[in-house]
Amino acid sequence: MRFFDPHIHMLSRTTDDYENMAAAGILGVVEPAFWQGQPRTRVGTFIDYFDALVGWERFRASQFGIRHYCTMALNPKEANDVALAEEVMKILPRYCAKDGVVAVGEIGYDDMSEAEERFLLEQLELARSLDMPVLVHTPHRDKKRGTERTIEVIRDVGIAEEMVVIDHLNEQTLPLVMETGCWRGHSIYPHTKMSESRMVALLQQYGLEKMIVNSAADWGRSDPLKVPKTGAAMLEAGFSEEDVDRVLFRHPIEFYAQSGRISLDEMTTPTVDQTQLFEDNSVLRGQTPVVE
Ligand SMILES: [Zn+2]
Repeated sequence: MRFFDPHIHMLSRTTDDYENMAAAGILGVVEPAFWQGQPRTRVGTFIDYFDALVGWERFRASQFGIRHYCTMALNPKEANDVALAEEVMKILPRYCAKDGVVAVGEIGYDDMSEAEERFLLEQLELARSLDMPVLVHTPHRDKKRGTERTIEVIRDVGIAEEMVVIDHLNEQTLPLVMETGCWRGHSIYPHTKMSESRMVALLQQYGLEKMIVNSAADWGRSDPLKVPKTGAAMLEAGFSEEDVDRVLFRHPIEFYAQSGRISLDEMTTPTVDQTQLFEDNSVLRGQTPVVE
C-alpha cells in the first residue's frame, strides 16, 4: 500500500524515521512550518528555518526516497510577540512563492488571544490573495469553542471552504466541520488527540468524504508511522484497499494539489541517489551511497 503523511515535522526527526517511513510505503510528506518548543527572538531565525524547510530538509527526504513539501506560516504560539510577528508577515509572501510550498499553515488559535486572531485573519487573507490552500490547526484547550470561532473567522474572510483543512479534529469537533465545505484533518497520536481505532470509528460513522489523516509527529512524543498504522486498522475493520488509498494517499494530495505545486501524477515511487550532495553536505557518515 502507498501512503502520504500530510502533516509531519521532519526537521525534528531522525534518518531512521525516514528509512522506516519509506519501508512502510510513505511516498511523500507535507511539513508545516511550526514552532521550536521555545520562542524565536528575531526574524532571522524564521528566515533560516523557512530556508531549511525548502532546502536541506527537502534534500534529506529525497535521500530516503520520500517527496517533501511544506507549508509556510507564522505559527499561533509565536503570534503573541506582535513586533516580531509583524516582521515575519513581511517575509511570508516570498516564501509562499517557492517550489514545494503547497499551503499557508499551520495557523489558528492557541490561547485565543487578540494577537492570535489578528495574525490568523491576516494569514487567511494572504492565502486567499495567493489562491493557496490553508492548514488551520485547532487549539488543544477549549477545543470546541476554538473550532467554532475558527469556522466563523474562515467564513468572515470569505476564503473558499474547500481550500481549507481544519486539523487535529476529534469526536467533539468533527461534527462542527462536517457542516462546512472544509477538509477534515485528524492527527493520530500515541496517547492524546486521536488513536487509530477512534479514527476508524469516525470513518465508519461519518464516511470518507474530505477525510484526511496525519501523524503530526514532531520533537515531542509522537509516531511517524501513524498513517500506515491507521491503514492497517482500517483494513482490519473491513475497509477496502481502495478506501485506504483514497483517505491515506489521494485525499491529502488532492487537497494540496489546489496549490498547483503537487499532483497525483508526480507521486510515483521516487528514485534514491545518495551520491548527491546539498551545498557539499551528505546525509551519509561513511556508508556506501544507495543508488536505485
Ligand atoms: Zn504540527
